[in-house]
Amino acid sequence: MKQKETLLTTPLSEEKIELSHLMIEEMGDEHKASSVDTPLRADAFEKTDEEKIALIEPHFRAIMETLGMDLTDDSLRGTPLRVAKMYVKELFQGLNPANMPSMTLFENKFQYNEMLVEKNINFYTNCEHHFVPFFGKAHVAYISSGKVIGLSKLNRLVEYYSKRPQVQERLTMQIGKALQTVLQTQDVAIMMDAKHLCVASRGVKDDSSNTITGFYGGKFQEEATKAEFLKYLDINA
Ligand SMILES: [Zn+2]
Repeated sequence: MKQKETLLTTPLSEEKIELSHLMIEEMGDEHKASSVDTPLRADAFEKTDEEKIALIEPHFRAIMETLGMDLTDDSLRGTPLRVAKMYVKELFQGLNPANMPSMTLFENKFQYNEMLVEKNINFYTNCEHHFVPFFGKAHVAYISSGKVIGLSKLNRLVEYYSKRPQVQERLTMQIGKALQTVLQTQDVAIMMDAKHLCVASRGVKDDSSNTITGFYGGKFQEEATKAEFLKYLDINA
């Protein structure tokens, strides 16, 4: 988030700093993403996972202590380290490109040139504005240009990009663009239907709304193809 950093570090008058913070807070609550790429620092992977865990632990401990919690209690004692490990090894391991699943392609021997849809892929990710989960179903489709991919790889790709602090629009686009690159075709569509806990459990406390995002590349931008994809999603949805 280069822009945000500039806003925070540029010396401004008191009044302007107030305004900047307000704008940043609003941007977070509106869930606006600033770019398709996850905003990462240049030194993002200079530290090992173990070094990151060791650094995060005292920070999380400080948050809990600041909230007034007694970390000598047996139930809380292990929480800072547990959270640090969970962040680095599980929830956010998809930040590191080294963890991208291998994508083996096969020749399309059956000459199946129709649309392939894999729907109802479960995903769990975390909102980058509040660090609480959003989760739901991803529906992925492509039309082969001569290469095909193992179905489980579609799940793995969704999982990989989900394991980052995310914004649903960006998550949808990252999966779509990665599939276009892997499959060497523009003809890729993604639809994601998710429930955001930052909307359901806090803020406006709306637990009945879902958020739907779509990515339509190549032939999927044509009405008939797009309609066919959406029709498949309706059946036994
Ligand atoms: Zn949020």
